[in-house]
Amino acid sequence: MPTLPTYDDVCAAATRLRGFAHRTPVLTSRTIDLELGAQLFFKCENLQRMGAFKFRGAFNALSRFDERQRKAGVVTFSSGNHAQAIALSASLLGIPATILMPADAPAAKMAATRGYGGKVVTYDRYTEDREAIGREWSERQGLTLIPPYDHADVISGQGTAARELIEEAGELDALFTPLGGGGLLSGSALSARALSPRCEIYGVEPEAGNDGQQSFRTGDIVHIDTPRTIADGAQTQHLGALTFGIIRREVKDVLTATDDQLVECMRFFAERMKLVVEPTGCLGFAAARVMQDSLKGRRVGVILSGGNVDIVRLCALLAS
Ligand SMILES: *Cc1c(COP(=O)(O)O)cnc(C)c1O
Repeated sequence: MPTLPTYDDVCAAATRLRGFAHRTPVLTSRTIDLELGAQLFFKCENLQRMGAFKFRGAFNALSRFDERQRKAGVVTFSSGNHAQAIALSASLLGIPATILMPADAPAAKMAATRGYGGKVVTYDRYTEDREAIGREWSERQGLTLIPPYDHADVISGQGTAARELIEEAGELDALFTPLGGGGLLSGSALSARALSPRCEIYGVEPEAGNDGQQSFRTGDIVHIDTPRTIADGAQTQHLGALTFGIIRREVKDVLTATDDQLVECMRFFAERMKLVVEPTGCLGFAAARVMQDSLKGRRVGVILSGGNVDIVRLCALLAS
């Protein structure tokens, strides 16, 4: 078993991120508190640099490169937000970045990645193995591979969002975060366990891709085919060894949400809170809404993980 990152690593990441990542706002809504009979605190990572929490993990990981690694550059694979996060962090630190992206990734995410200075190489997400391609590039060209979630520095960086949330909102009874490969959930769990020891931590996946739920309940990492869901940030096929190591130790349960529930949440955020939240970013709130009876009277944190959605697609989803 590789060494798992700790809350001390999250604190070190927070120091590296100071002056580079935004300290995003924590918003509340009287409407939703009345609907659920609970007190909700939304951590708005849709307002983070490049539009998602992934800037935190990417910047933390690249900040730790030595001189040789900085010169040679970084390579990664991603369905979108991690790609933009690596491209932006690399350009801020003067490191060349090569990004492997699925050929059918949302247009806005691909354009943004190129706009941040990343070199984009495409692959077919349904037939090719992105991890094998990434390893090949790193071996052939001496590039350092920073994967989207199963990396100690990525996990520690992602944990800084929940750290800020609890610093600002105070101790929580429950915390809900979206779950893809588990970088956000495991990092959040390190912070929540340290700052709010009794907090129940929940990860939420798209119903069509519940590998994390199966893994959590069986105790072994379950692999699935790329799920078809509008939550493109959580179309991962399996958890990582590091993320699962933390998740199985700290998390209360893994829940799921349907695409219809995600659209309903996107509508709520747009209409009532004037927030653009991408489908994946709505997972945590979708599950909290369904659980409402057991949350009555409690203090609940929800991480809105990102806001990168083509505006035309947003309108089409809301009109459907
Ligand atoms: C990547 C991503 C997730 C999932 O994060 P993991 O660390 O892979 O679990 C959730 N929401 C958004 C917006 C993302 O970009």
